[in-house]
Amino acid sequence: MGRLLVRLGVLVVGLLAMIVAGTAAQAASSVEKYPTKKQSARQAFTAEERQEIDDFVAGNVLFTLYHEAGHAMVSEFELPVLGREEDAVDSLAALMMIPEEPDEQQDAWIIAAADWFAMVYELDDSEMEYADYAGEHGLDLQRYYQIICLIYGSDPEGFADLAEYAELPPERAERCPDELAQVARSWVSLLEPHEGKAKKPIVVSYGDPGEYGDAADVLRESGVMEVVAEELSTTFAFPNQIRMVAEQCGEENAYWDPDARTITLCYELVDGARLLIVDDIRAR
Ligand SMILES: [Zn+2]
Repeated sequence: MGRLLVRLGVLVVGLLAMIVAGTAAQAASSVEKYPTKKQSARQAFTAEERQEIDDFVAGNVLFTLYHEAGHAMVSEFELPVLGREEDAVDSLAALMMIPEEPDEQQDAWIIAAADWFAMVYELDDSEMEYADYAGEHGLDLQRYYQIICLIYGSDPEGFADLAEYAELPPERAERCPDELAQVARSWVSLLEPHEGKAKKPIVVSYGDPGEYGDAADVLRESGVMEVVAEELSTTFAFPNQIRMVAEQCGEENAYWDPDARTITLCYELVDGARLLIVDDIRAR
């Protein structure tokens, strides 16, 4: 699929090494204490459940950062976008996270990012109104299936069970390998001219977490923002100083501000991901 995509794969492998081997002990201990503290230790989590919580949060933070980085690339490199930009950068985030070779950890992260959309869909019992279809994003379940399709397309045999579990219709599944190849080809051709080193390395900072201290601790200790910033800075020739900031936003969100050239990750999103998976585990 081209040198760049291989490089993107390496990016996530580097991250893997840091999260799993490097800061894993710290991150794991935070994950362990965080949900139980809020529930007065009513329920202890098994090691497997703690791993699932950790993977879910890490997978969704990674996906969010790559998605926002995609917006940053579109605006900083003045890339043409055919179709909705939100769809394009979802695909880029998925591309960056889907491993070249089967890899249990990386599979868990990208599947967690897809699952988030299905879980949010399940939680939302409001009736759809006209305005809901007017959003710039695809509907939650459409975003879910788009990611599932790309994952499945990367290894139809290996992800046959996933496709079945996700109820991916066979007629869509059949086209997924070609869809993956097409988005990969498209992104690689757009990004290849911008391969290189950022003029100034992306700077990471953390704002006051307020009531989201626990989520902020987990985020900081995982080092995910630093690793993504470092890898993006050494892979792409961003012409201007980009910042990556974690802060309170008053909502579960993340966004790229093209004027301030800042990617903001809201503590609420990190906290929300954790609560979502904890509730899901408790409800089983
Ligand atoms: Zn977006």
